[in-house]
Amino acid sequence: MKQTHSTHVYDFHCHVDLYPDPPALIKECERQFVTVLAVTTTPRAWAQNLEWTKDSAFVHAAVGLHPELVGERFEEVSLLEDLISQSRLVGEIGLDGSPKHRSHFNRQKEVFTRALIAANRHGERLVSIHSRRAAADVIALIDQHIRPERVTCILHWFSGSQAQLRFAAKLGCYFSVNEAMLNSDRGRALVKEIPNDRILTETDAPFAIVNGKQVHPSSIDKLIQKLADLYRTQPADLRHQIDLNAKAAFSKAGILL
Ligand code: MN
Repeated sequence: MKQTHSTHVYDFHCHVDLYPDPPALIKECERQFVTVLAVTTTPRAWAQNLEWTKDSAFVHAAVGLHPELVGERFEEVSLLEDLISQSRLVGEIGLDGSPKHRSHFNRQKEVFTRALIAANRHGERLVSIHSRRAAADVIALIDQHIRPERVTCILHWFSGSQAQLRFAAKLGCYFSVNEAMLNSDRGRALVKEIPNDRILTETDAPFAIVNGKQVHPSSIDKLIQKLADLYRTQPADLRHQIDLNAKAAFSKAGILL
């Protein structure tokens, strides 16, 4: 008989505060043993998220400033830096090079750089990073400003090239994968390149859509099934590997699960 695997699953990128009833979602995650990194999109939202999650052993609030919001909220960058001194968990931060957000790209770079520097200065930080159409710049800034023994970077919904993925892995990055990434051949080929010891799971709920429906944190098991098919391994073995990876990532931020 194989040893019993952990029943815990992990959602490393979920927008808990964008649900109509965050406390109800938090309770649901606790009942289902889903450990959640609750990312936020503005530094001003962090205090409320911390209030909701402070007594939860499963749901953990991170402080962030989403690159898509930098255009209208650039002035919150100093608040973000301040709060990174209080929060070991950081996200969502990063860069978005899509046409819609490109006009603020230099400001996005300034916010992302300052956040990385703050995280690295304090150390024991875990960071969830957005890199849509900006993988090269995101990876270059991580390379420049982060020491992997001080900050654990998780590239969320990574969609760069396979070569970029391998380089980011060499820099110590983890990759949190969601179900929507498996919708295309390109996405599946990219996910296959993730080293075993760097893969994590996420939902990006409530944004990710699969078969016309929002993905929910309670669906991580389904994602693990699909990933196990892709990697031609047993779901229980993959779940165990992700459990080890998740515990390693959190423990580097001083958080023992
Ligand atoms: Mn997100």
